[in-house]
Amino acid sequence: MNPFLELGIRHEVVNAISELGFEKPSPIQEKAIPVLLTGNDDFVGLAQTGTGKTAAFGLPLFELLDFSQKHPQALILCPTRELCLQIARDIEKYAKNIDNVQVVAVYGGANISDQLRQIRRGVQIVVATPGRMLDIINRKAIDFSNVKYVVLDEADEMLNMGFQEDINNILSETPEEKKTWLFSATMPREVRRIAQKYMTDPVEMTVGTKNTGNANIEHNYYLIRAKDKYAAFKRIVDSTPDIFGIVFCRTKIETQEIAESLIKDGYNADALHGDLSQQQRDKVMKRYRDRSLQLLIATDVAARGIDVNDVTHVINFSLPDEVENYTHRSGRTARAGKTGVSLSLVNIKELSKIRHIEKIIGKPFEKKDVPQGSEVCETKLLSIVNKIQNVEVNDKQIDPFLPAILGHLQDLSKEDIIKRFASLEFNKFLEYYKHAPDLNINAKDIRGDRPERGERGDRRERAGSKGYTRLFMNLGSVDEFSRGDMLGFICNTTKISGKSIGKIDLKGVFTFFEVEDAEVNKVFEGFKDVDFNGRQVRVEVSGDGGNRGGERRGRSYGGDRRSSGDRNGRGGDRRTSGGRDRRSGGDSGFRDFSGKRQASKARY
Ligand code: AMP
Repeated sequence: MNPFLELGIRHEVVNAISELGFEKPSPIQEKAIPVLLTGNDDFVGLAQTGTGKTAAFGLPLFELLDFSQKHPQALILCPTRELCLQIARDIEKYAKNIDNVQVVAVYGGANISDQLRQIRRGVQIVVATPGRMLDIINRKAIDFSNVKYVVLDEADEMLNMGFQEDINNILSETPEEKKTWLFSATMPREVRRIAQKYMTDPVEMTVGTKNTGNANIEHNYYLIRAKDKYAAFKRIVDSTPDIFGIVFCRTKIETQEIAESLIKDGYNADALHGDLSQQQRDKVMKRYRDRSLQLLIATDVAARGIDVNDVTHVINFSLPDEVENYTHRSGRTARAGKTGVSLSLVNIKELSKIRHIEKIIGKPFEKKDVPQGSEVCETKLLSIVNKIQNVEVNDKQIDPFLPAILGHLQDLSKEDIIKRFASLEFNKFLEYYKHAPDLNINAKDIRGDRPERGERGDRRERAGSKGYTRLFMNLGSVDEFSRGDMLGFICNTTKISGKSIGKIDLKGVFTFFEVEDAEVNKVFEGFKDVDFNGRQVRVEVSGDGGNRGGERRGRSYGGDRRSSGDRNGRGGDRRTSGGRDRRSGGDSGFRDFSGKRQASKARY
């Protein structure tokens, strides 16, 4: 008998999930489904992402809800738009053989009218991100008085992202007697508090050891000098030609910088972070899913909820600030029973963090050597030869050109031709790795290493000219700014004189600019709560993000709202469809600079 039937799941659902390749329940499903099916208990499940949580709570709902009724009976809250869509899609797939199941995905950054229309038509299962859900509740557009089950998925991450208050407000709209099922990858005090506040005597279960990562993941680290990090990273990528990876950085700036460098160096890479518009994010994700991108460079927050199959490598370009995030990152690979590698580039100072992570995941890391230049060349050459061997030849299309080709090559021997074809791609590697030094730190080097030299290249450049502070802004030439426009924009917004602005270094999606030290605070003040074409303008001291763990902590404006900026990027959850921040006090806190920039163009 099918083990899902034994657990009490009905035939129609078992047929649907069998088609998806679910042969036997995953550990969390095996443990949670029998408990949840009773419908009598609150529940706390400590489980990583990618362990089959969606089916663990989704399948029992099919047995517990009344699908002849068309009002909301289950509410699933999750932190990100991507996860929200993923859960809604998965539930629809599992339910495909049951009549009348209606699921709606409610998330920011998308047209609210469509979501409202779906709700009006009648739904039993609502999957939502907290910001947009609250928006809909405030519009009195949904009735939660018949909700029987609330699922808080990735509760730790929802709290990390500052959704605590929203969750409280949403839960207060649901009946007292509902059951709450909470899933979390970690159990910090805040999550524990939620469990205490909203649950009665919950059944608790942990899948695997607390915080233990997936057993199919190999954890490696490379010990290098901070200044060699990018070069080492490139060697690893070059010697892994079939890599399909997610590269984690700590800050949005670092993410953007690494992606730009990789693109410039000819790699199929792009960045995913909270400063991108929803449209840009969707485009990047589509390219990654289609495998047009080989490397996705992402911040922790932006990569949350991404469920892409067959990610071969997770690369910790920078280790996460919060060690527990390491398991979230590495969980992006080795999904659904596959294997994967999670590798970290660390300097000596960070070795203690590796030891700490080992304790948390309960598994040792293996120290790997950064390949030597000659090794990279060899791997690359073999991969090129492999490609030549396996390339599909379209005889019909190429035959007409063959006489001309043969004419050109007739004086060359077979060996010469082979060498030349291989060299076409290979030469650039030979050239690049010609004098490549050993990048590994050996035991004898450890004493002499000076890790305090900093992570990201030339500090002097980052510090700005004497008497000036170098600032970062998340707008650049893609926003159709010239240097003059930018100068005008800064002066108009902050009311400081153009004379106080130094060098302006306009990049693609961001800009570095210098400001006299004495005027820096005015710049921060001036850019507080400023939106540009619906995007929150963020200004911070260049390099701050990298040093202080930026994405959540750096000194920046919109300072307090930085994380909301990120959320925004991930789904515009904090904003209404008009692009205004609910918390900015409506019009008073909102300035639209789409026109102002044009005006400044004329003036400067
Ligand atoms: P989740 O943790 O729900 O995001 O699931 C992670 C991945 O595992 C998804 O691609 C699911 O389709 C897949 N999955 C979930 N349960 C099972 C199962 N019992 N057998 C095989 N694959 C599963």
